[in-house]
Amino acid sequence: MTPAPIAIDLEAIAHNLREFTTRVPVPIIPVVKADAYGHGAVQVARTLETVAPAELRPPLLAVADAAEAAALRAAGITMPLLCWLLSPSLDWEALRAIPDLHVGVSALHELALLADAAPQVAGRVDRDRAVNVHLKLDTGLGRNGVRECEWRAIMAQAAQLERAGRIRVVGIMSHVSGTSPADDAAQLDAFTRGVTQAIDAGLRPQLVHIAATAAGASYDRFTAQADAWTRREADGSEYRPQLAARLGIALYGLDPLHPDRIGVDLQPALQLRTQLSGFGAHWVTELGQVDGLPPTVSSLHLTDDAGDRWRVGRVGSTHTTLVPETATSATELTAIGPGSASADEWARAANTINYEITTRLAGSLRANDEPAVIPVTPKQPRLAPKREFVVDLDLIAARLAGGTGALRKGDRARPVADRHLHEHIDISADAYGFGADAVAALAIKAGKTLVARTERDVDRLRARGFEVDYEPTAGRETRVAYGFHTSLAAQLRSELIQVKRVAAGQAVSYGYTWRASRPTTLGLVPLGYADAIPRAVGGRASLFVNGIHAPIVGRVAMDQMVVDLGDTNCASGMVVHVWGGEHGASIQQWCEWSGLTPTAVTATLGSRVTRRYLRDGVERDD
Ligand SMILES: *Cc1c(COP(=O)(O)O)cnc(C)c1O
Repeated sequence: MTPAPIAIDLEAIAHNLREFTTRVPVPIIPVVKADAYGHGAVQVARTLETVAPAELRPPLLAVADAAEAAALRAAGITMPLLCWLLSPSLDWEALRAIPDLHVGVSALHELALLADAAPQVAGRVDRDRAVNVHLKLDTGLGRNGVRECEWRAIMAQAAQLERAGRIRVVGIMSHVSGTSPADDAAQLDAFTRGVTQAIDAGLRPQLVHIAATAAGASYDRFTAQADAWTRREADGSEYRPQLAARLGIALYGLDPLHPDRIGVDLQPALQLRTQLSGFGAHWVTELGQVDGLPPTVSSLHLTDDAGDRWRVGRVGSTHTTLVPETATSATELTAIGPGSASADEWARAANTINYEITTRLAGSLRANDEPAVIPVTPKQPRLAPKREFVVDLDLIAARLAGGTGALRKGDRARPVADRHLHEHIDISADAYGFGADAVAALAIKAGKTLVARTERDVDRLRARGFEVDYEPTAGRETRVAYGFHTSLAAQLRSELIQVKRVAAGQAVSYGYTWRASRPTTLGLVPLGYADAIPRAVGGRASLFVNGIHAPIVGRVAMDQMVVDLGDTNCASGMVVHVWGGEHGASIQQWCEWSGLTPTAVTATLGSRVTRRYLRDGVERDD
């Protein structure tokens, strides 16, 4: 088998941590959420644990949700782990059972659920096992975090629960928008008020952290604040919280402020390699949107192993066309990485940020001796907010059997007639996210021949025991059963995990690109560009919740996004329909918003999205 296309330089990651630690003299909390921004969370966490323990004092790694934390524990990572993306629907006792978990709490009800799940011994609360809480304050970003008007209430409650031995408040945290130095300073002021209130409420958090990479690089402004929080205790001891920074993007060797620089010598850790092949009239490479490459790029050049340049043409579903600028003898090139185009150059060419470039790359492009971050296995306790991709196997089976496509309530498009159904079915890219096992089983039963469009897929599928033909030009007729051009046989849904009433003027997400023009209600949805939501849909797309189409406002982040619910009465836990199904946007509409091909919309779902199947009218996990 050919080597995996993505190679990760783990030494570069250790180097980046050391460089940042030298530059910024505060404890660093490395962020390995979203499968370490596409670099492999288990390998990265293991590297940090073994190579750089001296740099990590106190030791703490951050992920977004507790399912990511549980996956790291299952892989043998023992460092304390911090997560902050919660939902009322979680299995709180299972969450409490994860050893050394720190939980970022954004609401009073979350605090109550956590405290209620406190472990007991002999009918009493087990104080030694009180969960470590970081109170997450909203200082202006408008995402998760407690609104300032509720700070006093949650701090009083936290202090009381701490005295009862049910929780331990070890941190206060917030997150800045990076809109402007003035806006960041205003957030720091709010944060300073919050930490002061917490101390006045009797809390003694050891760690206070507001900065990620970008703000961390200019932390000098922030460190001065620590003096204001110093207290002389009644017993004569001195209390002084430690200021920490959460380090994500710089760990992977990328600069958050491109083309400005944070002034740290960073080494990009990810390299994506590919082969060149002459195919039809073009040169192509077997990488495309289904692998996570952005749909549209302009003026992007790659350099091959002989040093010759290629212009990137169309990034298609499974292949990308390349135009040689000079004659060349090379057969391989670096698609992303040193010596060719960097993630920064890709980001600029695709009008996005380097974070999205690496994070959306498919995990299957890496050498995979480790399981995906979240193995999709049935009957696991719910540790992450709901993010569900539901595949309608009944509809696929009906289409494969040559029916009219089982038009049902909610189907928007006309059914596909028999004569369009071909004898082949394309199961590239794990059947475009639908799951090759499930789709192939139905296809074989219906007497179809399996095909895949790339050699890499053919190799992978054959290794899994499938009889599959290589068919690089497999046309639409081989994908009719999925309904990419009619009515999709799948849907993506999630839930509201926080609902907040805000005043006019409230800004939302990085860069404050949106502000409420009137008092309104904001809903937090636990999906971001690491999961399924291309950053490009921010400000364009809407989601369906509680009977309304709620627009996505502000920038889509890696793990979360915000919708404007207006004056609709909504509560956390309510179902959010993203695309497909009776209520979600049509896949065609979503393609218009995102620029993606329909196959890429489903194939690029991240590993945190769980897959469910509708079979014989019943939904299940397998
Ligand atoms: C993702 C994330 C970070 C890391 O941000 P970088 O810009 O990658 O350093 C820090 N804090 C929170 C709350 C995050 O969601």
